[in-house]
Formats: sequence, structure tokens, C-alpha cells
Amino acid sequence: MSTQPIVVIGGGFYGCSVAEYLAQQGAEVVLLERAADLLTRASYSNQARLHGGYHYPRSFSTAYRSRLNFERFLREYRPAIADCFTKLYAIARIGSKVSPHQFEFFCRNIDAPLVPASSKLTKLFSPRLISAVYETQEYAFDAAVLRRLLVERLVQSGVKLQLNTTVAAVQSQADGNLAVLDDRGNCHTASYVFNCTYAGLNTIAGILPTRSNLKHEITELALVQLPTELENVSVTVMDGPFFSFMPFPDRGLSTFTHVRYTPHASWLESPESLNAYQVLAAAEARSNFGYMVRDAQRYMPCLNDTRYCDSLFEVKTVLVKNEGDDGRPILFEVDAQQPKIVSMLGSKIDNIYDALAAVQSYFDRP
Ligand SMILES: Cc1cc2nc3c(=O)[nH]c(=O)nc-3n(C[C@H](O)[C@H](O)[C@H](O)COP(=O)(O)OP(=O)(O)OC[C@H]3O[C@@H](n4cnc5c(N)ncnc54)[C@H](O)[C@@H]3O)c2cc1C
Repeated sequence: MSTQPIVVIGGGFYGCSVAEYLAQQGAEVVLLERAADLLTRASYSNQARLHGGYHYPRSFSTAYRSRLNFERFLREYRPAIADCFTKLYAIARIGSKVSPHQFEFFCRNIDAPLVPASSKLTKLFSPRLISAVYETQEYAFDAAVLRRLLVERLVQSGVKLQLNTTVAAVQSQADGNLAVLDDRGNCHTASYVFNCTYAGLNTIAGILPTRSNLKHEITELALVQLPTELENVSVTVMDGPFFSFMPFPDRGLSTFTHVRYTPHASWLESPESLNAYQVLAAAEARSNFGYMVRDAQRYMPCLNDTRYCDSLFEVKTVLVKNEGDDGRPILFEVDAQQPKIVSMLGSKIDNIYDALAAVQSYFDRP
């Protein structure tokens, strides 16, 4: 057995959690992150939805896993959870892939609490375009608090953290170890490498591209101040080209997204495609919020008074195979040429427990 540390590349929620988990199992762990802080990319710039399963009526397995992971995540990261808002799911009359009856049936099946919304809340919606409104149990997380909690946990578990370090290549060595080369010319010797770089998963020389096809999207989360009628209310309209607004606790605002206008560009990854972070850096940061809210206020007229404040732009990377069902399983792939390298594509934040179980099985295998 090698005495060299395990190197985890990428300090998002997934990389940090994997690093902590491995350290708790007794390994020496080095975590390398290209940015100046942890959780600055997808793990910060997201909708902050702690999924309760409701979002995935077309992927029972994703919804069911969400339900199971929800309570566990809530217990473990309680200080990072915002639950002081009413979460409404509404069903569109036209263009929805789910009917009220199907949605109720689905929620019962995954054991997700669901009650018809009060008439005061239902009146916020256009009855011509919305057929049902439900009150649900779904919360938001504060990514800045998650970051603070993770830093404490990494320190406690003895993970060695190196920020401002971009990994450029991983090479196999004659003694069975791996050489992890960073952009500063340093070489970190590793017994195993966990590649948790999300949008950058296939950009490191010496790590084979994942066998599962990836799709990248440049996404925009508009940050808004909601009108007073919607203070402490969050809405998701299901299931198709509709909109959602969720609290974004770190900024004291709400994110506003629209299935049609949040993605600004998308492409399938191929050996020729550019580094997604570079594509994002070169993209024009022009907001689509005007389009989002103009469409959304047809469903909720009071959204007319929403005040736009800012936008977060981020790369979203998903598995092509889940395009149809909107499922969000984690990707866990052992490199085809070097079995000591594992690439993991993070999924929803609460899916972390599936990722840690996969790490455990990897080391438990005969
Ligand atoms: C727009 C959007 C909305 C979303 N909404 C939700 C939601 O509401 N709820 C939910 O649960 N999930 C949501 N997600 C999904 C979730 O945010 C991601 O799946 C999750 O954050 C991925 O975590 P990660 O650690 O794998 O990736 P990241 O947080 O992106 O971490 C990857 C890290 O790797 C680093 N890195 C990259 N390349 C290198 C390199 N070569 N060397 C060193 N470091 C490197 C990056 O700097 C980054 O810090 C959303 C995602 C997006 C983009």
C-alpha cells in the first residue's frame, strides 16, 4: 500500500466533501483548488435549492434519492439552511409535461408533503394559465455558510488545502504512484487522484475524457428583489419552459430563472471543444432578465414589480443521457487506463451522499 497522499482536485462542494470523507477514513489528503477560495463556482452560483424531490417528476430515481438525502442534509448542514419562506409549486395549464393529478400521485409515491395552497396565495396566479398551486416542503441553502462549515471540517479532519493551484496534468509513475502537476511547476505525488472539477472535468492532461458524454451550458441566475406580495414566497412552475424564483440567502435576494432564458449557450463536449471556463470568461454578460420576467408575469401579474439587481453567470455541466428525463445522478468514472484516477461530476448538492457511497465502494472493491 502506498504511503503517498490522496490528491483531490477541485474545491467545490463535492471535492471538499470527498476530501474530508477520505481524511476521516484515515488517509492523508491534499486538496488543490484553482480559485482563491473554496465553493466559488457551481457550488456558489446556483439556485440554492435543497431539493425535496418535487422538481423531478420525470425521473423517479432522482426524486426518490432527493427525498432520502433531504433530511440527512438538513441535519448535517442545519446552520446553512434557510427555511423561513413558503415554497409553492404551480402547474401550468398549457405546455406542462405533468398534470396536477400526476404531480399529486408522484409526490405521494416519493412521500413528499404537498397541500393545496391557500386561496390568498393561489390568487397571485393567473387562473387562465395555472391549473393548480401547492404548498410544499423545500428549503434553500446559503453557500457562504456551507463554505465556512466545510473549511472548519477540512481543518478538523487534517486535509491539506492549497488554493490558487490549477492542475494541468496527471502522470503515472514507474513506482505505481501518480504525479500531479500544477500550473506553478509543482509536482504532488499521489497514491490516488479524485478529479472533482465539474465543468473542467475533461481538461486535465493524462486523465482520459469521461466515457459518459457531457453537455455544458452558460447559465444566468438573475438576482432580484421581489415585490412585497411575494416576500418570503418562492415559486416553481412545472414542468416545462417555465420559471422559478428561490431565496439566495448570501445576498439577501432571490434568484430568478427561466427554463427558456437561463441558458445563454450550450454545447456538447468533444475533443475539439474549448475549456468551458474559458468560454464563460469570453461570453458576453448581457442579462436575459427582461425576457424572463415578461413571460413570468403572464402567470403571476404581481411579478411586474420585481426589481432586477444583478446576475450570476456560471457553467452548468450535465450528463447528455439525462436530457430527456431531467435526472441528475452523479457521475463516478474510474479512468480506463489508470484505475487510481477517478473522475466525479457533482450533481445536486444533496446528492453528495451518493457520491461518498461510491467512493466507499471504490475502496471496498476486491
Ligand atoms: C445554474 C445552476 C443552478 C443549479 N441549481 C442547483 C440547485 O438549486 N440545487 C442543487 O442542489 N444543485 C444545483 N446545481 C448543481 C450544483 O450546483 C452542482 O452540481 C454542484 O455545485 C457541483 O459541485 P462540484 O463541487 O462538483 O463543482 P464546483 O462547485 O464547480 O467545483 C469544481 C471546482 O473545481 C475547480 N477546478 C476546475 N478545474 C480545476 C483544475 N484544473 N485545477 C484545480 N481546480 C480546478 C473549480 O475552480 C471549482 O472550484 C446548479 C448548478 C448550476 C450551474
